[in-house]
Amino acid sequence: MSAFTDIRLEGVSYAFGTHTVLNRIDLSIKAGSIVALLGPSGCGKSTLLRLLAGLSEPKEGHVWFGERLVAKSGWMLPPEARDIGMVFQDYALWPHMSVAQNVAFPLKMRNVPGGERAQRVRQALERVGLAEFASRKPSGLSGGQQQRVALARAIVAEPGILLFDEPLSNLDSALRKSLCHEMAHLLRALGTTAVYVTHDRQEAQWLADRIVHLDGGEIASVRTVTSSSGEIA
Ligand code: ADP
Repeated sequence: MSAFTDIRLEGVSYAFGTHTVLNRIDLSIKAGSIVALLGPSGCGKSTLLRLLAGLSEPKEGHVWFGERLVAKSGWMLPPEARDIGMVFQDYALWPHMSVAQNVAFPLKMRNVPGGERAQRVRQALERVGLAEFASRKPSGLSGGQQQRVALARAIVAEPGILLFDEPLSNLDSALRKSLCHEMAHLLRALGTTAVYVTHDRQEAQWLADRIVHLDGGEIASVRTVTSSSGEIA
């Protein structure tokens, strides 16, 4: 898949038992754009991201990545076949592996040969400013550094789509702001389509081109962020 992938949700619903969590969501995300899913706790943001990741199956509707159908009721493409990278709130690094081994993992899964793998790992770590930490274990890093490792791991295979689930929630506010701006810069340089779940309006404004506001499992509004200062049209 190319590095430029658009995303389309058509009439997507999801329910836990009889509790409808997403109600007929229609949403198009342009290739290369950064979309924040914003809304209060429990509004369905993570559920929507899990549907995009291939961790949950829609009850109704269709999910498309470019021309490729990736999910419908009763069927879904598994996460490893979707050409995605993910960053989670809790970093989800493997503690027994070094930083470089963590970042190399997606390339190993794709059978990228050793020499090329080492080079791409180095490049990804340079992009997030952690080149000199390659041989450390995650436990020897700060929270912010661990999240940079998770970011390097998400981008190393140059996936078409990056998915973020509240990645900065565990960090203090100064670090949150600087890392958020850094991520915005990196995502724009990469040109990867990104979907970013947050309950924090400021983060959404710092990072996104468009902010999709979810409320009670429905899209309440879609707004375009019109300037780098984060003003919303
Ligand atoms: P958000 O990410 O916006 O906080 P979620 O997508 O996690 O919201 O949850 C949406 C709704 O689904 C909430 O009402 C939540 O309680 C419910 N929910 C989430 N996970 C489960 C689950 N495993 N079983 C039952 N209900 C769930």
